[in-house]
Amino acid sequence: MFCKNCGSNISDEAVFCPHCGAQAGEAKGEPNKQTDNAAKPQTSNVVGLVGFILAMVSVLFWIIGLLASSILFIVSLMLGISAIVCSAIGMKSSAKSNGQYRGLSIGGLVVGIVVVAISVILFIIGLAALSAMF
Ligand SMILES: [Zn+2]
Repeated sequence: MFCKNCGSNISDEAVFCPHCGAQAGEAKGEPNKQTDNAAKPQTSNVVGLVGFILAMVSVLFWIIGLLASSILFIVSLMLGISAIVCSAIGMKSSAKSNGQYRGLSIGGLVVGIVVVAISVILFIIGLAALSAMF
C-alpha cells in the first residue's frame, strides 16, 4: 500500500510509514483518538478565560485607583472595556468548545460592565464637581 501522508510504497502490515512516520492504513490507534477528541473541547475557549482575568485585574486596578491614584482609574477603565470585548467573544466561542469557560465569560462580562459603568459615572460626577467649582 501507499502512505497516505508522503505517498511512499510501504508494507501492507506496516502500522507506521518508515519514511515519514505517519500512521499507515486503518490502524488500531483510531478508536482511542476518537474518544480523546470527544472528551476534549474542539476549540479551546481561551478568550473567555482572558476576559474573566481582565475583568478581575480591572477590579484590582479600580480599587487601587480609588485608594491611590486616579491614573489607575483610566487603566482600570481600559482593562474593563477589554474584559467586556474578550468576554463577549468568549461567550460566543464557548458554544463551539462544549461550553468551556462559559460561566467565566458571563462573569467577566458582568464584572467588566459594572467596572466600566461605575468608572464612567464617577468620571461624570468628577467632571460635574469640577465644573461646579469654577
Ligand atoms: Zn509516509
